[in-house]
Order: sequence, then structure tokens, then C-alpha cells
Amino acid sequence: MNRRDFLTTATLASGALALGACNDSNRQAIDHSKHPAAKADETKRVHVNKNKKTIIKLATSWPAHFPIMGTNVEKFAQRVKNISGGSLEIKLYPKNTLVPALAVFDACSSGQIDAFHSGPYYWKGKNSAFSLYSGIPFGFTSEEINSWMLFGGGLDLWREQYAKYNLHPFMGGNTNIQMGGWFRKPIKSLADMQGLKMRIPGLGGEVFAKLGVNPVLLPAGEIYTSLERGVIDATEWVGPALDMKMGFYKVAPYYYSGWHEPGSILELTFNKHAFEKLSFEHQAIIEVASSELNSNMTYEFHAENILALQQLRALNVEILQLPQDVTNAGKVALKEVIEELSAQNEDFKRVYASINKHLQLSKEWSDTSLRYFLNAR
Ligand code: CA
Repeated sequence: MNRRDFLTTATLASGALALGACNDSNRQAIDHSKHPAAKADETKRVHVNKNKKTIIKLATSWPAHFPIMGTNVEKFAQRVKNISGGSLEIKLYPKNTLVPALAVFDACSSGQIDAFHSGPYYWKGKNSAFSLYSGIPFGFTSEEINSWMLFGGGLDLWREQYAKYNLHPFMGGNTNIQMGGWFRKPIKSLADMQGLKMRIPGLGGEVFAKLGVNPVLLPAGEIYTSLERGVIDATEWVGPALDMKMGFYKVAPYYYSGWHEPGSILELTFNKHAFEKLSFEHQAIIEVASSELNSNMTYEFHAENILALQQLRALNVEILQLPQDVTNAGKVALKEVIEELSAQNEDFKRVYASINKHLQLSKEWSDTSLRYFLNAR
């Protein structure tokens, strides 16, 4: 058999194997029509008018030039302008320059702005299910949550539920795994968590509350002084890169690895009517550029975190792990929080069921591949 014949035979054989696998009734198929790039109704396309400039007003929950989270949105805006040849411009409004940081959801829903960049768990007061789109404690890594969003039905559920608010979300970055936070005193056992005042939002806060912690929400600008004065005993923030810049190590020297936000998603959300009014080409540019924003931010967090960790070590910051009894109690508490919220809210129950299906399969694959590799490396 010459090389050419071998390649032809091998291709046919692998094709037959692939077909065999597809016919296996136990295998769950991925529905690629759900991927954003697949949607297409050519008869309804409105094409771009290159002589007309379209402006999108986009407000963020971050200050101007906020590292990684803000700067990547600035790069996204520049990218959109470049790819569209200047026919689509994203005009950025950092926090409080047009609307307050946590008013962006309502401002976009009503059409005051066309888009916003923020985090889905800030809107859990509107619907507790929205917190699930940020991720859950002990849940998905950034890679796993992206996989659920694009190929496991997550983005469809998110869009269906945001549509009720006239909103259309995209993934807008991921912090990667976050650190457990900064503590003024070391945590030696679960007993040390009792009565602790800690700044921690989202489902993580609800889990910590069941461990006896008193979770508080503080604006970013107040966390350092509250920690310094002992108004709070601990705070979580993001990870080494952004935590370094906040200076928490100066007032709370015990820094813990975490499990409360293992891969938090940030959102780039559009007013649904405003997005639908855009030309086919401009919609496609936003889809592609938001995908770049999502991956670039994830990788930049990683690149900045590895450098900042070295800086923290050089400053002799104690980097610790939470005691096993705290972690075990956290898992029990998470189960209770999920059960309570599922009983209260049908949307939460439905989204969590979708997450849990993908998560259980992800765990098996990630343990088989990544956990083995990380242990071996
Ligand atoms: Ca956080």
C-alpha cells in the first residue's frame, strides 16, 4: 500500500468509526445550530449602509481604564471600529459617567443606553437565576463554563431570560479562578468563620452565610478602609493581579485560595431592539469581537495573575488554603442554597439543572484529563 492509499483508507476507516459513534444511542449530540455563529435567515438580512455611521452607547460598571476588565472593553471598542471600517462605533461610558455602576442593567433595558459591560450576579435581585450565569461555588472552571454557554445550552437560557428585560447578552470575559480572599486573622478551623464580617457577593456570599459568616456588600472604593479599620474582618475580590492593586495585603495579611468563584463570567449585554436593528454585518462584527473580548480577558487575567503572585510572594504574603472542615461545610451549604433557591424560583431550578448536567460530565472528563495532568506536572 502506498502512502496515498494508506491515507485514503485511514480516512475512510476513521470516518466509519465516527459514524459508528454517532449512531450510538448513548451519545448525546451537540446541537451546533445553537452556536451564535450558526443563526442565519438570509431573507431577513439588513445589510450595512457604509455611508452611515452607527453609534452604540455602552456603559460599564468599572472606572475608566480599570485594569483588565475595563481595558479589554476599550480594546473591544477599538476592534469593532477597525473591523467595521469606522461604520460602527462603540462610545464608552465608564462607571458613573452616564449611569451609576449598578444601574446599567435597567438603563439598557429601558433603552437609555444601547449596551453595558458588567457581571450577571449583580442582578440576582431581579431573578436569582441570573447569578448562575456568573458561575457557582465548586462549579465550572472558565473553560467548562464557556463550553456550557456555547454548546451546553447556557447562552440560550440566558438570552431567553434576559429577553424578558429586552436584553441580549454575550459573554464578555472571565476572571478565571478567583482567590478566597484576604483575612485579618488566620482561619484554622470552621469555628474561626463564626461571626466574621466579610465582603463577599453572589452565591458565594450565601454559602459563607451558612458557615456563620456575616456577608456584606461594599463599593470597591470602601473595601480597603473598612478592612484597615476593622469594620470588616475579611474580603474577597478577584485574584492576585487586581487584589495587588487594591493593597489588601497591607491590612489583611492572610491570603487564601478559593472555591467560591472558580470561573466567573462577565457580560457584554445589548438592548435587544438596538441589537436587532443593527445590520447583519455589524451584528456579526459584535459576535466576533465579543468572542475575542471573552478569550483575551480570560488569558490576560492568567498572564497578570502569574506575575502578581510572584510579587505577593516577594512581599512575604502568606498564601494559604482554607481548612478542610470549612471546605466540607461549604459543599453542604451550597447544596442547601441551591435547594432553597430552586424551590423559590422555577427559572433558577431550570438553569441549575442545565448547569448540573454539564458539570457532572465535565467533572468526569476534567478529572480524567486535567486533574491527572496537573498532578503529574
Ligand atoms: Ca469576586
